[in-house]
Amino acid sequence: MEQASHKKTQYTCSMHPEIVSDTPGKCPKCGGMDLVPQDSSGGSSDHGSHKHDHASMMATPEAAADFLKRFFIVTGLLVPLVIFSAPAVKYLGIPDFVARPYLEFAIATIIFYFGLVFFQHARHEIMMRQYGMMTLVSLGVGAGYLFSAVSTFVPAITTEFYLEIATLIWILLFGHFLEAKSSTAAGDAMQEVAQLLPKEAHLKTDSGVRDVALTSLKEDDIVIIKPGEKVPADGTIVLGGANVNEAHISGESKPIQKQVGDAVVAGSINIDGSMEVRLERVGEASTIGQIQTLIRKAQQTKPSAQRLADRAARWLTFSAITIALATLFVWSVVIGETFVIAATLAITVLVIACPHALGLAIPTVTTIATRLAVKNGVFIKDMQKIEVIKNADYVVFDKTGTLTKGEFGVTSVQVFAGEEQQLLGIAGAIEAHSSHVIGLSIVEYLKKNNISTPTATEVKNLAGRGMKARVSDEIYWVGNQRLMEELGVWSDDIKKSFDDASFHSATPVFIANKKELRGVIMLSDQVKKESMQAVKELHQLGVKVAMLTGDTDEAAQAVAKQIGIDTVFSQVLPEEKYTYIKQLQEKGNVVVMAGDGVNDAPALTQADAGVAIGTGTDVAVEAGDIVLTQSNPQHIVRLIILSRKVYSKMLQNLWWALGYNIVALPAAAGLFIPFGFQLGPAVGALVMSLSSVVVVINAMTLRKARLYV
Ligand code: ADP
Ligand code: MG
Repeated sequence: MEQASHKKTQYTCSMHPEIVSDTPGKCPKCGGMDLVPQDSSGGSSDHGSHKHDHASMMATPEAAADFLKRFFIVTGLLVPLVIFSAPAVKYLGIPDFVARPYLEFAIATIIFYFGLVFFQHARHEIMMRQYGMMTLVSLGVGAGYLFSAVSTFVPAITTEFYLEIATLIWILLFGHFLEAKSSTAAGDAMQEVAQLLPKEAHLKTDSGVRDVALTSLKEDDIVIIKPGEKVPADGTIVLGGANVNEAHISGESKPIQKQVGDAVVAGSINIDGSMEVRLERVGEASTIGQIQTLIRKAQQTKPSAQRLADRAARWLTFSAITIALATLFVWSVVIGETFVIAATLAITVLVIACPHALGLAIPTVTTIATRLAVKNGVFIKDMQKIEVIKNADYVVFDKTGTLTKGEFGVTSVQVFAGEEQQLLGIAGAIEAHSSHVIGLSIVEYLKKNNISTPTATEVKNLAGRGMKARVSDEIYWVGNQRLMEELGVWSDDIKKSFDDASFHSATPVFIANKKELRGVIMLSDQVKKESMQAVKELHQLGVKVAMLTGDTDEAAQAVAKQIGIDTVFSQVLPEEKYTYIKQLQEKGNVVVMAGDGVNDAPALTQADAGVAIGTGTDVAVEAGDIVLTQSNPQHIVRLIILSRKVYSKMLQNLWWALGYNIVALPAAAGLFIPFGFQLGPAVGALVMSLSSVVVVINAMTLRKARLYV
């Protein structure tokens, strides 16, 4: 699990870890990289993540614009280069002149200058020992340019390939523009989330209302939010009210009515009313700030498919250099072709082999997956869990509040000693200190029936069993059968005395003092209608469903029967919950646990993947690898479908990227020349760029994915 760190965030460049700054911004060393918050868990020392950062560095809108500018300049320069090239002289009848080769050299040099951007990226790669596509491109272009330049000034060498190198740079620039453009379009989830916030807020001050930037908002500021406007930070309504849409945060599309005293979260939309809100959490502390932190953390984690891609890319770089050298040697020395032909082929190999598509294959998918997930109220904190979730054999649900509504209604009250109102009052006094849904429900019931409660002191929570407290000079216990047994006030005769019908499927809460059992409150919870559908859909996906609860076996079985649960673990103490997960795992199952994230933390951690279920806009759940904002079990189904789709997209993309290289490398090495097919460097570059674009487009089809069975 992530350790929460409370130290001040510092920002660093993933290329230059020596750069540390207190504020975000651009790296002063390389200028291009955004400074990212330092990862306290040590993730930024993980070498593999640089590749991802490098890919994202080239996918900014600024990078796209830069590539396009260079592309246009090179396009303009290509025209004179073609006119003064040797083939033009030969075939188009353009008159030759003495200075022509030097003019050609000059134009090509300027074009080469605009292609130096690839060398900058190559330098990063070499410095990071992450030899990749830019290293290859630079080797290919650099070798080609040098070779041609030598031929211009050394009369003995007559062939050059300025035109090839220039078109190669031209196409590479366009390819990179397309890529940068489409990966930007594929979406930066962070930016998307930032767009949920308004640009300015109407701040109420002593001298009237002023429009201020969000960054200047502080806690306890009062802001005015007009109809149609977005809420700038988390706070509580102090005046007015409205129907508010929180869909983009909670996935719940129904507008929610809010009035004075209700909390509103940053990014939600005020549909129809006007309200004044006192801010409680601003900036990073607000819900949106927390979502951004979650996304940032997720982006630092990598699916294992990414590790595979990284390894393949490195392997490919080295084999490309080897094959290029072998090509040079075989064609010139063994076959006896001219050095120019051999060099052309070797350069083509270098250019063709660029594992560019490979670098994009996984990040494009994860970016879109994150966004798709957020849209569905799912926050994936650890991308690696995608692969686990897609293989889930068992989903274990916590019963109360997850599968059931968690709103217990009192169905009956039985009194063994004393008077009913007084007994209920005692129970209510104690439960007023409880945060358990059972406690809340009892308090709610008393309030509705106007039953007054005394005050309780020396309150003690007995996890998984109930509570203990002093009420009017006597100690009372409120809780389940286990607690009564521990107290020694339980006997089987008592159980027999119960009305059978009400005992079944209901949850009894007993009240006792030191000497005797005084009474019992029968409560019953309702199954959520989504639970039934969720279990059905999980079965359709081939996933078994288990239920884990501290409630009685009778109550658990009643729920299980109603919704078709495969395995039931009942009367489980909170601290024992994780052992049942372990049990399932020891039988060889991949287990996903879904619980409320507060008292289920150990179980969530024990599971192969833990899904913490929050309520509404509460995304700051510490436990769990995944956070669902809505307490709807159907979202687990969505999550499993999402993970399967995302994973298969990753595999597809790996195949697209690698498959291209498998076919293109031998073609570039001239293996098919005996059959009359030769792949030139420029065509090679075009194909290479296309393969990257295919990978990006393939990832983008995920945006429209439907997450239904
Ligand atoms: P669950 O999450 O399945 O409800 P818990 O461990 O939270 O499991 O609770 C287990 C059982 O302990 C409850 O079903 C209830 O019988 C008893 N219990 C827990 N807290 C209270 C409480 N505040 N008042 C009465 N009974 C309680
Ligand atoms: Mg619980």
